[in-house]
Amino acid sequence: MRDLWKNIFYGLLIFLFFAGVFSLLNPQEKIQEISFSEFIKQVEEKEVKTIEVKGNQIIIELKDGVKKTTTKETGSNLEEVLISYGIKSDDLKEINIVYREVENDFWIWLLISVLPVIFIGVFLWWILRQGQRGATQAFSFSKARPRIYGVGGKIREKVSFDDVADLKEAKEELKEVVEFLREPKKFLEMGARIPRGVLLVGPPGCGKTLLARAVASEASVPFFSISGSEFVEMFVGVGAARVRDLFSLAKKNAPCILFLDELDAVGRLRGAGLGGGHDEREQTLNQILVEMDGFERETNVILLAATNRPDILDPALLRPGRFDRHVVLDRPDIEGREEILKIHSKEKSLAKEVNFREIAERTPGFSGADLANLMNEAAILAARRNKKEITQDELRESIEKVLLGPERKSHVLSQKEKEVTAYHEAGHAILASFMPESEPVQKISIIARGLAAGYTLKLPTEERHLKTKTQFLAELATLLGGYTAEGMTFHQVTTGASNDLRQATDLARKLVMEYGMSKLGPIAFGEKTELIFLGKEFGEQRNFSEKIAAEIDKEVERFIKEAEKKAQKVLNERKDLLKKIAKLLIKKETIERQEFEKIIKEYKEKNKKGQKR
Ligand code: ADP
Ligand code: MG
Ligand code: ZN
Repeated sequence: MRDLWKNIFYGLLIFLFFAGVFSLLNPQEKIQEISFSEFIKQVEEKEVKTIEVKGNQIIIELKDGVKKTTTKETGSNLEEVLISYGIKSDDLKEINIVYREVENDFWIWLLISVLPVIFIGVFLWWILRQGQRGATQAFSFSKARPRIYGVGGKIREKVSFDDVADLKEAKEELKEVVEFLREPKKFLEMGARIPRGVLLVGPPGCGKTLLARAVASEASVPFFSISGSEFVEMFVGVGAARVRDLFSLAKKNAPCILFLDELDAVGRLRGAGLGGGHDEREQTLNQILVEMDGFERETNVILLAATNRPDILDPALLRPGRFDRHVVLDRPDIEGREEILKIHSKEKSLAKEVNFREIAERTPGFSGADLANLMNEAAILAARRNKKEITQDELRESIEKVLLGPERKSHVLSQKEKEVTAYHEAGHAILASFMPESEPVQKISIIARGLAAGYTLKLPTEERHLKTKTQFLAELATLLGGYTAEGMTFHQVTTGASNDLRQATDLARKLVMEYGMSKLGPIAFGEKTELIFLGKEFGEQRNFSEKIAAEIDKEVERFIKEAEKKAQKVLNERKDLLKKIAKLLIKKETIERQEFEKIIKEYKEKNKKGQKR
């Protein structure tokens, strides 16, 4: 666009130049213009000395030297016209009549005919140049443009290992890699093979990209970074060409580190998926494999890659000599969470009373990214409240915001809805506190959040990697608690329970089909098929008979029915408690963990006494 304006500017400049030349060649004197009849009169009175005819323009010079001008009709002969006006031809002879070539016309012609040609020429040239640029751009698509960090790179990375909390093992491993690059001799002399590829594996948001960036700044060698999705773009065949390009760039700059982020974008298992759309990806992957084999033993290029789906990577990528080192990054534990929170609070003003430990306790299962988000939400919240510092309140509230979405205070419940929601949530909460091995209730609320009308927040006290059947059963019953409480109290259920029912059904199905926790025994039913195309687990292939299918359905039904029965039993025995909590909820809208636990404790003590009596 800027070029267009530039060209227009140049065009105008050329025009002005011509116009200037034109006016220089044709100095225009100020001559008085008169009418034709006045001109005749002056001829009749014999005042005219010379007449100059230039096309239609007539310039007369009077005997006293004054010049005047007028115009005649096109095509007419001046002398004939004058005679027809009654001027005698003898008188005419006394006047010096000069016919001149109309030089003006030449310039006008030039202006009219040449200038547009020049304009069009400039325009065409401009268009062509644009087109050419476009074309070269299109053809240079195959050039991989990795971001280059560290030595020789323009980008200076500010992230260091200190900015990465937790992840000690991963950091150690990567430091080792950096050392390999610094002193390859030491390792080669020992006969050690320099690691070719290091794969960072971990759930989304756990700091893979962050860690790689930290390596970029710690390494004393160039660091090339490119994301898997950048390989596949627009034209078929570009991906493979880019890979070739990238690897030759890396080889030229050895020793260096080459980082492929989101490897799963290109590294998925070949031959899976729908249609031919993945062909391009396969070629790209093949090229990566070829290039990795092409490295000589001495080549000092280390490949670093990150993925959150190692399970779907092509096995060829993972065999020795390729990405054979796996560094697993896990979700942070309580210490890690505390550390991450501290790192992300560095540039924020915090109140002295802030207790990160408490927040870490309340956020099991949060990833590093979630925690970073939490800190940010807290800062936003504090700013909106016109506070100078972030306090514990904001941090606590942000947990829920990150977990469940923002509060929707504007979503006003009618009195009846409020009651129903209160009983529903109270039902969940009571079941959560009276089923064995259940997770403790953190908070109950009937303020709408995200899509839910209310919520009961339960969080495990500790990280759990393995779950028992008892825990699952407690979860199932708790999920049905809302539904059951509504039915018991109002003899009718609402749509508010639909999400709970879906979760419960999914869970029950998993118990039967994946975890082998039903009568059908330790068999995993169904094969997960990956539809590359949709990028997520989509279909389940049946690897069992119709008869088994019916049995699975029966088992799922049994789990749900039993959970419902359990929920009914627990709630029926504690109708007064249900009412108490629901009433309190209607009044206060939220109940925090401590208050809730106090109510439950009081209730239990009272009941014990009652039983003794
Ligand atoms: P991914 O594993 O999906 O690549 P990222 O590395 O992009 O995740 O992490 C996202 C963000 O989460 C980072 O920018 C950082 O702010 C935060 N984060 C994640 N893990 C950590 C950690 N261990 N220490 C500090 N911040 C972290
Ligand atoms: Mg990432
Ligand atoms: Zn519910």
